[in-house]
Amino acid sequence: MESRTGTEAKPRGVSAGRVVGRVLQVGAPVVEPKSSVVPEPDRAAQASQVREAAAAVAARLRDRAATVTGARADVLAATATIAEDPMLVDDAVSRCASGTAADAAIWGAAETVASTFRSAGGLLAERVTDVLDVRDRIVRELRGEQEIVLASLTEPTVVVARDLAPADTVELDPATCVAIVTELGAPTSHTAIIARELGIPAVVGASGATAIPSGTPVLVDGTTGEVVPGPSDEQRATVVPRAERSPLNGPGVTRDGARVRLLANVAGAHDAQEASRWGAEGVGLFRTELSFLDRGIEPSVEEQAETYLAVLRAFPGQRVVIRTLDAGSDKPVPYLTLPGEPNPALGVRGFRTARRDPDVLARQLEAISHAAMRAGEAPWVMAPMIATRDEAASFASMARGAGIETVGVMIETPAAALLADAIAAEVDFLSIGTNDLAQYVMAADRQATELADLGDPWQPAVLAMIAAVGRAGLARGIPVGVCGEAASTPDLAPVLVGAGATSLSMAPRALAPVAAALADVTLAECRAAADAATSADSSDDARRSAAAALRVRV
Ligand code: PEP
Ligand code: MG
Repeated sequence: MESRTGTEAKPRGVSAGRVVGRVLQVGAPVVEPKSSVVPEPDRAAQASQVREAAAAVAARLRDRAATVTGARADVLAATATIAEDPMLVDDAVSRCASGTAADAAIWGAAETVASTFRSAGGLLAERVTDVLDVRDRIVRELRGEQEIVLASLTEPTVVVARDLAPADTVELDPATCVAIVTELGAPTSHTAIIARELGIPAVVGASGATAIPSGTPVLVDGTTGEVVPGPSDEQRATVVPRAERSPLNGPGVTRDGARVRLLANVAGAHDAQEASRWGAEGVGLFRTELSFLDRGIEPSVEEQAETYLAVLRAFPGQRVVIRTLDAGSDKPVPYLTLPGEPNPALGVRGFRTARRDPDVLARQLEAISHAAMRAGEAPWVMAPMIATRDEAASFASMARGAGIETVGVMIETPAAALLADAIAAEVDFLSIGTNDLAQYVMAADRQATELADLGDPWQPAVLAMIAAVGRAGLARGIPVGVCGEAASTPDLAPVLVGAGATSLSMAPRALAPVAAALADVTLAECRAAADAATSADSSDDARRSAAAALRVRV
């Protein structure tokens, strides 16, 4: 049924693959327990339940810590310590003795610990998220709800949730998580991006999905957006396990020989090695914040340097573009971002966090510089969420001061796109983040399921902004990359190149299809397609006009 605006929210396939697996419902938020007075004779039992639940949660966290290494193990062990902390457990027990039910007692005790930590500030304040996480685990334990550890699923599972935090998504293992279905989310939300990077079929905006009971077999199509509980044998026969694609074979080039570097978006060393296997010509976007989403305190310069070094080593002698922390909005990094901003997408995120904590950025740049020296490489470094020429100049001066030679900024705000020429004068390259650029140009939250049509990079207003940046890059003679999800769309890639992109960076599985789309067209055709799409009346019209321009050989 058409809605009155001609668009309507519907499930969207955001990561290809048609699979069947059993549903596992995860992540229902823990609801605050209702307070009620427990009769005197039952109070001791409530108190023992609190102790047992806290001990069980701590033991499980320790077991998990023993199965992993490095930072993740430290975090799990530290969280286990909170679950056993007498300040928390003894307070909950004494609340039980005064007649509070076990779940409400742990909730209240955790609130007290959290507010003590908050007012102590510093390192303790950074543990508040962990305290609340432990609280939720203990409450779930008391309610007999199974704790779900996404990293250790053992059978083919379709993970279903209202929404998944990026931190949950990075825990997923494509070997066991065969698909992701969420009720919220949009094609450029981070869950969708990470699913594509992991090659896990995914559907977002699937309203009603959380009502499918765990254990139900379900067919999921990450291209069409179908989610079919209890599929028939006929439907099961249509499964295409994982979108197996071939790696990129040779450099990106148009039919007439114009060079377009085809790079990968990565979140860490593992992805970078994968990207190299997929034939990427380098890394166009290393989202460094994804390595630190689960960290309560800032990793040391040395630890950060190790992380960056591992990525550099996957691409010796090739371009690696490292983005400084894009913390904030839907990627809160506990040690850098403050919860509770009224409008986090318009708040202190990305480069803006350096207003409050310039030293965190300075230490990250120092770590990148160390890694570069140790690897004998010269990574390019860029800052996210730049809105003014001054910000670009200030980042460039910090980065150059730290010894980085090639410094750039992301163009993700309309302000930066409009002033791209002035900004380009300050830096060595520009990289267009079309996910955020579309969100801010169209004033449509990239996570808003209902507004996914507005956040479409084919919107002529978005394409016009991209073309303005392309012109600025050309005029200044500096490279212009596109590293948003738009770059991974084979139909759109020629338009981006026609609009001035000199490199495209994407999920590694998209490299070969994008290369094939470019190999089929000339640079002049790309330019004609970009002109046609930019002057179209709507996103659909832009798609049609670009396709028509590419069919007419010029
Ligand atoms: C973008 O906004 O297009 C981008 C590449 O950055 P992220 O998706 O990480 O915000
Ligand atoms: Mg962005």
